[in-house]
Amino acid sequence: MSSNRNISATGLPVSSGFAAGKAFVFRGDGELPVPEYIVEKGREQEEIDRYRKALDNIRRDLHALIGVLRERTGREDIRVFECHLMILEDEVLQEEIEGYVKKDGVNIECAIKRAMGAARALFGRMNDPYFRERVRDIDDVERRILKELTGYDRKPHLELKEPSVVIANDLTPSETVQLPREYVLGFAMNGGSATSHVALLARALSIPAVCGLGNITSLVEPGTMILLDGSTGNIVVDPDEDAKARFAELSDSRKGGTPSAAPSDRPAGMLKDGGDVMLLANVHPGAPVAGIKEYGARGVGLYRSEYLWLNRGLEPSEDEQFEAYRDIAAFTSTLAPGAVATIRALDIGGDKTVRGISSKESNPFLGNRSIRYLLSERGVFRRQLRAILRASAYGKVAVMYPMVSCIEEIFAAAEELDAAKESLRKDGIAFDESIQSGVMIEVPSAALNAGIFAKHVDFFSIGTNDLVQYTLAADRGNESVSHLYQPLNPAVVKLVKMTIDAAKKEGKKVAVCGESAADPVLGPFWAAMGADMLSMSASYIPVISRVLSSLTRADLDEYAGIPSTLPETATAAEIFEACRRWMSAKMPLIEGGRA
Ligand code: PEP
Ligand code: MG
Repeated sequence: MSSNRNISATGLPVSSGFAAGKAFVFRGDGELPVPEYIVEKGREQEEIDRYRKALDNIRRDLHALIGVLRERTGREDIRVFECHLMILEDEVLQEEIEGYVKKDGVNIECAIKRAMGAARALFGRMNDPYFRERVRDIDDVERRILKELTGYDRKPHLELKEPSVVIANDLTPSETVQLPREYVLGFAMNGGSATSHVALLARALSIPAVCGLGNITSLVEPGTMILLDGSTGNIVVDPDEDAKARFAELSDSRKGGTPSAAPSDRPAGMLKDGGDVMLLANVHPGAPVAGIKEYGARGVGLYRSEYLWLNRGLEPSEDEQFEAYRDIAAFTSTLAPGAVATIRALDIGGDKTVRGISSKESNPFLGNRSIRYLLSERGVFRRQLRAILRASAYGKVAVMYPMVSCIEEIFAAAEELDAAKESLRKDGIAFDESIQSGVMIEVPSAALNAGIFAKHVDFFSIGTNDLVQYTLAADRGNESVSHLYQPLNPAVVKLVKMTIDAAKKEGKKVAVCGESAADPVLGPFWAAMGADMLSMSASYIPVISRVLSSLTRADLDEYAGIPSTLPETATAAEIFEACRRWMSAKMPLIEGGRA
């Protein structure tokens, strides 16, 4: 008799609920077979006509699909396909594709791959995970067109013939929605994140889902029994009777309650012995905020205001800004008593450029960006500060300045804030006189001068995304230097420590709001070093909360000391590995999915 394997794995909980059933393993992830050749001279127009005809067919299919979806689900899903239609209609992309055929004489499939590859690279370099995930839309549109042209198709929906937990590397949005809803008990994905389409659609369709499981497709044989908990990200493959019984008990105990992605009824971020790390949400205008409360966020630690500019391509008026800031302030006040919405002033420049606003610079990452831009465009700064202040009458708001590198920027920003307050007083408009203001620590000079800065600001928020890139001179979006981009490089750790120590000395609070805050090894490490708050995409909060809830303050002290137990020549990768090993000894499930 074969014994149960009872393999546990933990990924990102992206859609809550329990699922138990047989595994449907979708392995049809092979590359589309795409012919590439040089077209006979004079036949280029035929290639272009083939493409235009394919576009017509796809347009028709997409409109039909949107019609079906409108009846079945909510707006969120429809937007995915509206976005696909926009990519299809994109004139620049079409010109590029047809240009490859006309100029280089390549066949249309090859031209599509080239143009889509360039678009993918552009989106893949973007800092924001939401935009990075849009690479999937480009993939999906490319696959649709190539499929139409070559006749090749992956058809998971035809293979799924009974109720199952769907296991796949990743699924495109169209593959996801075409699956027969009545047969999909849950999703367990190798890849994906909280903003991936499988996650968005799973939430819209109320299907439990776990993403980011690493190699789950190779761990699971088709037909194996799977238990999946979309609230904690846990899955068990081939469970024994005990595991099944525990699972049944857990799912019964949650039945009837509101579906919650928070791991327990303790506030998110509580340590085992009662200490507390405040877990906050990173949010940007235009992104859905529903669900943030369920994930357990106790405030908004980073509101990326620049999306108002990026979404529009120009400066929003003071009133438009005010409305957006007022909405996030009012929403945040529903999260927890005293919850604060930390609105970051315009962080434009670097890779976040707006045509007509950002100037062309030879090295934009070191250019007139963020607070530097605001101080060079006082009118823009004034309008934004007035809008933020006005919003502070509708919920607790803090203002945060990005990319500060020297003390004079702090003084100049404080003067601007005072001037904006004065102008509102004159206009008789209400605002919070005691609004807090803080700075992001993203540049080594800011960390090195944190001792001085801390005397003149109310809080720090460490942006590890940029602090790592500027400390190690390694572009955060460049794959070829990603081996150098290491948050646990001792130089970065020293700067984080200087920042935290400086804040503590002045009795000021310090947060970490870069992506590393959401990593189950790194986030708790920053907390162990003394960060009071961790701010992240809200869907990661349950995972980090779960890790913290199984550690005591003494555990965290031991954890923070790990680098000092290693030889001084230890590499960043060795330090990370030591931390990961320590963490997985405490929390076996964290390692499970990624081993
Ligand atoms: C950071 O740099 O860590 C940060 C949070 O800012 P952004 O990612 O928006 O640059
Ligand atoms: Mg930054």
